[in-house]
Amino acid sequence: MPLVNAAEIVKAAHEGHYAIGAFNTNNLEWTRAILAGAQEKNVPVIIQTSMGAATYMGGYEFCKTMIEATVKSMGITVPVVIHLDHGSYDAAKEAIAAGYNSVMFDGHDLPFEENLAKTKEIVALAHAKGISVEAEVGSIGGEEDGIVGEGELADVEEAKQIAATGVDFMAAGIGNIHGQYPDNWKGLHFDRLQELNDAVPVPLVLHGGSGIPQEQVQKAITMGVSKLNINTECQLAFDKATREYIEAGKDQVGKGFDPRKLLKPGTDAIQATFEEITGWIGNKPIKLVPEAL
Ligand SMILES: [Zn+2]
Repeated sequence: MPLVNAAEIVKAAHEGHYAIGAFNTNNLEWTRAILAGAQEKNVPVIIQTSMGAATYMGGYEFCKTMIEATVKSMGITVPVVIHLDHGSYDAAKEAIAAGYNSVMFDGHDLPFEENLAKTKEIVALAHAKGISVEAEVGSIGGEEDGIVGEGELADVEEAKQIAATGVDFMAAGIGNIHGQYPDNWKGLHFDRLQELNDAVPVPLVLHGGSGIPQEQVQKAITMGVSKLNINTECQLAFDKATREYIEAGKDQVGKGFDPRKLLKPGTDAIQATFEEITGWIGNKPIKLVPEAL
């Protein structure tokens, strides 16, 4: 079973100046599309659930079991990480108990001292079980699962203190936004990214990867970003392909309404999006000794 935590693959990306794609899943089709793309490209993959998507699918234990069973039934041989995206303190503990390989504790909306203390606690709990941890400093703009971030730039001194807790990688606000980017968006703050990369030894995570111009993401990857979160781009690709299928009337021809046919164009579009992004972020094959879970 190629399930692993994310520490080693993200570290390898950091040293090799490329990034690992972390793709959010919402259901079985998304899970299959992401895993098929990873297998096709022969790259490690981080498949992640937000708290909302996990609730939607039936909880952390269900998600972990479903992803693990899909990895097995599809004969996936590349390293796969099951990661919690933007977890609260309680959600991170639940995902750890449910057997996720990696968790993000997002304490950015707490007073900094509390974020720091809780990050430390989650790191101790997770590392005792061989689970990797992502923390957040500053905040990512936009809305995800009802959490609205103002897009506050990460403070370098705070980032140093969070890094010292032993987190495996760190999300840092550098002007990035969840969801679609407004027309008047100013771009990534590369000066702050440079300061963070100089001050903090851990790999950085770029959230809101959908919609940032490709050259800005690639530049960020050369400056310490080693995990790129992708969600909206897959949602838009799924929507577009499904809309085209229905608008072309294909659901009304023969048994085109069969969900296995109806959901196929969207599922294929997610896989194509995965493979395209994986290509230009430079994600590379990696050989790991799979951990027993
Ligand atoms: Zn995010």
